[in-house]
Amino acid sequence: MIDWTIIGGGIQGCTLANYLLKSKRTTISNLAIVDPHPEPLYTWKRCTKTIEMPFLRSPSIHHLDIDPFSLEKFAKSENGKSDAHFYGPYDRPSISLFNKHCDSLFHEIQLVNSWIQGRVDQLVRKKQQWHIKLADGRQFDSKNVVLAMGISEHPFLPLWANDLRNEGAPINHIYDDKISTDVIKSTDNILVVGGGISAIHTALKLSKIHPGRTKLLTRHPFRIHQFDSDPGWLGPKHMNSFKKVTSLTKRRQIITNARYRGSIPKELKLQALHEERQGKLDIIIDEVSEAFYENNEIKLNLLTTSISTNRILLATGFHATPPGFNWLTSTIENEGLHCATCGYPIVSETSLEWGQNLYVIGALAELVIGPVSRNISGARRGAEKIVNQS
Ligand SMILES: Cc1cc2nc3c(=O)[nH]c(=O)nc-3n(C[C@H](O)[C@H](O)[C@H](O)COP(=O)(O)OP(=O)(O)OC[C@H]3O[C@@H](n4cnc5c(N)ncnc54)[C@H](O)[C@@H]3O)c2cc1C
Repeated sequence: MIDWTIIGGGIQGCTLANYLLKSKRTTISNLAIVDPHPEPLYTWKRCTKTIEMPFLRSPSIHHLDIDPFSLEKFAKSENGKSDAHFYGPYDRPSISLFNKHCDSLFHEIQLVNSWIQGRVDQLVRKKQQWHIKLADGRQFDSKNVVLAMGISEHPFLPLWANDLRNEGAPINHIYDDKISTDVIKSTDNILVVGGGISAIHTALKLSKIHPGRTKLLTRHPFRIHQFDSDPGWLGPKHMNSFKKVTSLTKRRQIITNARYRGSIPKELKLQALHEERQGKLDIIIDEVSEAFYENNEIKLNLLTTSISTNRILLATGFHATPPGFNWLTSTIENEGLHCATCGYPIVSETSLEWGQNLYVIGALAELVIGPVSRNISGARRGAEKIVNQS
């Protein structure tokens, strides 16, 4: 029997794995990380590569290792110094440095030895342990289970886009699994829909490939924020009062209001405006009222004008529903696991335990960890809670 099983090998799951191993809560042979992809952080690397994000939005102390200065030390090491680039006053690391640091950490803890490539589709309690079944039929038992599935498998499509896509229109979400970069590169003219960092990075990338033939459609003027929520949420400044809120409906409201949705750091706005001035990118602030697909052309009626394009790339975020609930329903019913009105798990404030020896981290832990739960800093805070439980 395995001691700890983590379901999901993204930023959240891998941070926890590192914390469990380095704090000696378990050993690599007693740890399993189950994820459908061939290697750790696959989704993170795919998403950030798709949009060609050069620097993280978060500062250099937000990474997967326990020592807050681990990444900075790595940047000075032989292995790290060729990628040691930081941006701005918050020392935001380059994506290449961040990823290399992760890879070096995984090598150090030999994470590959705990990796099980597969998709969990059933979780059943058997006396004092959990029985885990994978979609391909493999199964095993584990004393503890941590749910670390992120939201990135469920990109959100506006209704009009979904309808047109069903009619065969060339519309993709930028985080669709099967999106082909060749198709994008060969497209005549292209429209990016969205106003957050994913949309702007994508528009900047495409305006270089298709100068003058790339449009960005955003529903709102650029919302400028350095981070995706106030840094006060990283510590006691905001979290002390959050913890005192007993109504989970209220907590959900606080989380929703605290997140700067669709916001971008200032340098992205400046770059987008620069591309616009150069005539390479057309920025349209408007909203779709009607959409048609005829003769291989997509026509969008906006509130104030109308536009046509050959291809649409959506950067419209992810579904808000809790991840994994398609296969967790029977576990929730059989174990009497509690969920708040928003659908998210009600878990222990101190250990993130949802049911006996069943833990959550990341998106699923946000009613305790707060607005930063899905981020790297939230992964660190979640991992600390799970590891430090008495
Ligand atoms: C473009 C972009 C930039 C970002 N930049 C930053 C930043 O600079 N700083 C920051 O703090 N945050 C950032 N974030 C937010 C956040 O840190 C990332 O989205 C992060 O990757 C979330 O990690 P995760 O582990 O929750 O999810 P994921 O990376 O999605 O990992 C979850 C894994 O679980 C797997 N899984 C799902 N269901 C199952 C199942 N049934 N069985 C097994 N495995 C399963 C998935 O396939 C996936 O591999 C960014 C997000 C994006 C999209």
